[in-house]
Amino acid sequence: MIFPDLAATVGNTPMVELARMTAGLPGRVLAKLEMRNPCGSVKDRVAVALIEDAERRGVLRPGMTLIEATGGNTGIGLAFAAAIRQYRLILTMPETMSAERVALLRHLRAEIVLTPGILMTDAVARADALVREIPQAIQLDQFRNPANPEIHRRTTAVEIWEDTGGEIDVFISAFGTGGTITGVGEVLKRRGLNVHIVAVEPATSAVLSGGPAGQHSMPGIGVGFIAEVFNRAIVDEIITVTDEDAFARTRELARKEGIVAGVSSGAALHAALAVASRGEMAGKTIVVILPDTGERYITAALFQQST
Ligand code: PMP
Repeated sequence: MIFPDLAATVGNTPMVELARMTAGLPGRVLAKLEMRNPCGSVKDRVAVALIEDAERRGVLRPGMTLIEATGGNTGIGLAFAAAIRQYRLILTMPETMSAERVALLRHLRAEIVLTPGILMTDAVARADALVREIPQAIQLDQFRNPANPEIHRRTTAVEIWEDTGGEIDVFISAFGTGGTITGVGEVLKRRGLNVHIVAVEPATSAVLSGGPAGQHSMPGIGVGFIAEVFNRAIVDEIITVTDEDAFARTRELARKEGIVAGVSSGAALHAALAVASRGEMAGKTIVVILPDTGERYITAALFQQST
């Protein structure tokens, strides 16, 4: 098969049974490997979808500039998609983002504006200001843009349905914008399945559970607020995970299954194993999303403490 460009290769990621990590547990855990998208994360789907949606609506035209506040995977997804279509891309991000992210983004010709500290609030304010200053510029805004959950309804959810033949009892996803859990959760429930939907968040920034926003070491999740695109009504259970448990599971995933993933994958997996351990899970299938590649964390604490 020959694809017209890299953007056309997004999605259709593999589903893999984690048989070694679940040995002896009642439930079966299947992992959807979103790091197998072309630039290494679930956000490749969203980045391409946001750009195509804006083009379709006529608000994004050749020669225009894209501006977005993101230090993470959405930025990398936008950078590769913008390169293919030759849009200028300006990303505002906190100065504390990891060196490999900044290097990767510059390699893809994204322009980077660093803001003080680690919180996204300054980056968002700077992006808002830049859109007003720069002519012919638009913000795609993954936290508010309905095209974010929509691409998961149209692709991620359908792939999960097809790979499991509809035999899925629990769906587990950590959330940042909530695009993944909203899109997938809505479709699975709409198809009449009795699927239990579990949202995973950092214990120290458990906003969905009613706690305060706080610091943690799981980039991409625990953003400190509930985004507009998040449909809370589809969530049946919330599981909170500590940094230590997320790190430990991320390493265990590499060592027992050979899967090199990011910290949010370890968090989601920790929750999946907790659910799989329940007696009532005998013979049941749990699907968990692993959002990004661990290669994005080589200079971060995940690899520093790896012995
Ligand atoms: N994990 C990582 C590493 C991410 O970058 C993201 C996206 N922010 C998520 C999980 C959560 O995805 P979503 O925004 O769809 O909730």
